[in-house]
Amino acid sequence: MVTSVNVSGLSKSYNTGSGAVPVFLDLSFQLAAGESLALTGPSGSGKSTLLNILCGVEGVDDGSMQVLGRDGATLTADQWAGLRRRRVGVVFQDSNLMPAMTLEENVKLRADLAGRSFGPVRDWLARLGLAGLEQRYPDQVSGGQRQRAALAMVFAMGPDLVLADEPTGSLDRHTARDVADALFHWQRTQGCGLILATHDLALAERCDRRLDLAEGGQG
Ligand code: ADP
Ligand code: MG
Repeated sequence: MVTSVNVSGLSKSYNTGSGAVPVFLDLSFQLAAGESLALTGPSGSGKSTLLNILCGVEGVDDGSMQVLGRDGATLTADQWAGLRRRRVGVVFQDSNLMPAMTLEENVKLRADLAGRSFGPVRDWLARLGLAGLEQRYPDQVSGGQRQRAALAMVFAMGPDLVLADEPTGSLDRHTARDVADALFHWQRTQGCGLILATHDLALAERCDRRLDLAEGGQG
């Protein structure tokens, strides 16, 4: 099996004033290339932490992981940054759009940084329901529209793996379904791996597999 993510015996705790608080213990799972995985579990169960670990923003206490064939233990901060620029698309809960650039400029910048051409991407702004808003600045659109622009940025970079934290979290039901349609359509046509954290069970069911962190990640 070609794996895009391979996690084995991963343990993570945070140090707080009252000692180390475990988030998860001995977590293991694999994601094949082109496969989608939903991370579920209540608030505080470690979904965001796991996504941060998988893109090299957060460290681990124990265990090993390979991301797109690279051994997490040997990657430097610069190498992780290179992966996030070109191969691992990350959609965080607070989308990180550049405030002084229009939505279209933000998407174009992301394509440029990944060495991609912007042309084929323009359509995705419309497909994500942002037609007519391309020349607006992030503070001139709603939170849900910023979230969709952040997805368009990830599509623009053409990654091999997408990590999305609550990608439909601030959207109404109807828009959430349209955005999920766009996300899964894009993921399948690209053959890209996808790990998404969500509270929305309807969204989780659209993924190939589900990992519930409330059950200690044994799902
Ligand atoms: P979820 O995304 O599932 O809501 P998180 O990964 O955000 O869960 O949080 C998992 C647990 O780790 C929570 O108990 C949270 O309070 C704790 N936590 C998250 N980030 C930090 C941090 N930077 N320092 C200390 N504790 C943290
Ligand atoms: Mg979270």
